[in-house]
Amino acid sequence: QLSKRLEIVGAQVPAGSRLADIGSDHAYLPIALMLAGKISHAIAGEVVQGPFQSAQNQVAKNNLSEKIEVRLADGLEAITLADEIDAITIAGMGGSLIRDILENGRQKGRLSGKEYLILQPNIGERNVREWLADHSYQIDFETVLAEKGKIYEVIAAEKSDMPVTYTEEELMFGPLLVQNPTSVFQQKWQRELHQREQVWTQLQTAKTPPSEKLTQIRREIEKIREVLQ
Ligand code: SAM
Repeated sequence: QLSKRLEIVGAQVPAGSRLADIGSDHAYLPIALMLAGKISHAIAGEVVQGPFQSAQNQVAKNNLSEKIEVRLADGLEAITLADEIDAITIAGMGGSLIRDILENGRQKGRLSGKEYLILQPNIGERNVREWLADHSYQIDFETVLAEKGKIYEVIAAEKSDMPVTYTEEELMFGPLLVQNPTSVFQQKWQRELHQREQVWTQLQTAKTPPSEKLTQIRREIEKIREVLQ
């Protein structure tokens, strides 16, 4: 039984895909998708020995060793173009780590541009959106969900022939999320607002308040207030 978060990530994987799940941990996602007949082949990448072994054990336990390859590798080094991957999932990590994995993979020639990217940053989603726009990936699905008191975002994107640009507001809140703000979206940004207001108050009481930081936080607070109107 997948978590709601991984269900939503999995639902974005196109049917029949050859999937690479990077940072797969127990390989729950590729196993569930394979058992559901949704994907044709999968590679589960893990950089840490413990999770790598746990992924191997789970795959073997489900008799899927022929269909899911578990590889010990850093990020997209788990795949090559010869794997003909058409969907990549990277879930349950910070946005800056997801960005670094994509960028290292791009620099090392591991991306053909045909892969559908399904990314689930726990925090720092802006880093992900910036990387996507910088490399002409168009965001065509975004959602925000709450599970066990935590709030997660899922972003899916495909490479476009045209340049992709997002405004400051779209990078911060999500180009699709901001157009159709749900109650979870409001909840997320209420939290974010509250955090920033606390930081703002703390910084104000410092002996020498850092003016640049204060200006930045002020600007973010104003943006969030506008969006929450
Ligand atoms: N993707 C699963 C999920 O969403 O439930 C597991 C998330 S788990 C919190 C993050 C996993 O990413 C860990 O198992 C960690 O070892 C792995 N990881 C972190 N950096 C990685 C990298 N550069 N390459 C591959 N795996 C990585």
